[in-house]
Amino acid sequence: MTKIAFIGLGNMGNPMAANLVKAGHDVHGFDLLPENLSRAEQNGVGKTASAEAAIQGAEVVITMLPAGKHVLSVYEDIVPKAAAGTLFIDSSTIDVESARKAHMIAGEHGLFSIDAPVSGGVVGAEAGTLTFMAGGKDEAFARAEPILKPMAGRIVHCGRGGAGQAAKICNNMILGISMIAVGEAFVLAEKLGLSHQALFDVASTSSGQCWSLTTYCPVPGPVPTSPANRDYQPGFAASLMLKDLRLAQEAAQAAGAVTPLGAEAAQLYALFNAIGQGMKDFSGIINLLRGAD
Ligand code: NAD
Repeated sequence: MTKIAFIGLGNMGNPMAANLVKAGHDVHGFDLLPENLSRAEQNGVGKTASAEAAIQGAEVVITMLPAGKHVLSVYEDIVPKAAAGTLFIDSSTIDVESARKAHMIAGEHGLFSIDAPVSGGVVGAEAGTLTFMAGGKDEAFARAEPILKPMAGRIVHCGRGGAGQAAKICNNMILGISMIAVGEAFVLAEKLGLSHQALFDVASTSSGQCWSLTTYCPVPGPVPTSPANRDYQPGFAASLMLKDLRLAQEAAQAAGAVTPLGAEAAQLYALFNAIGQGMKDFSGIINLLRGAD
């Protein structure tokens, strides 16, 4: 049993913390929203009045917060007060630069840290099947791996500090672009009088094959479990796709990478969000491409 502090008990953090409790860990948590704290308490998480109180006696601190600024402000607040040897795991999706700063803050205090963003969404968080993409030193990763296991289907050590966040935004840039590509193909097929099923049958076994088509098909019918069959209820909300595409663009600009399709995808998802569709599944972008909303 490990004493774990969990900061940020929202849609993702709450079920993740619940799985740590189920695995027999002693978890104390904090969230700014009282209702999220109460929900965590019902799942066996010890409720605390502040992040500082949550880390009292903790060997591991996990953060699951909205963005880089939240993670850095929490780290600046609690890292100096953490016990020697504490391992910090940040599972939020944040910009690579902030992730590196978070490692630096922990490192300056002689503490272990990894960035470990996830994919798999709320469903994966509840089922304990998230994919963790980790960045950090070997020793920190070795300590983090058994802690992540009850929340994970897969854990990949991607490299040094920030590499987990880099892997996450590169993957999601592929996803955003490929969903638009698949959506465009269905829209063109409709105009050409080709049925959804015929395009699916051909492309899913041809060179157009990809996850956005075969698992997450953006039209109803060919893949009965895809969000298109339930009026694009998420799934993975378009607002979160936009967040990740913007993080990818920020990183591309900082690193001098040329990503014209990533930039275009970010613009299309920004438009989709601007017309009030941010809470729909990201595959609903096909409706924007049709000229409907
Ligand atoms: P959420 O908004 O539901 O949860 C974030 C929580 O952090 C909120 O409860 C908020 O009150 C709390 N918080 C903010 N500042 C705080 C502070 N200073 N101290 C304590 N608590 C604080 O968001 P979420 O959906 O749980 O996502 C969390 C992270 O995981 C984000 O970075 C998101 O991009 C990433 N993510 C989300 C999904 C998803 O499907 N929801 C999938 C993969 C990754």
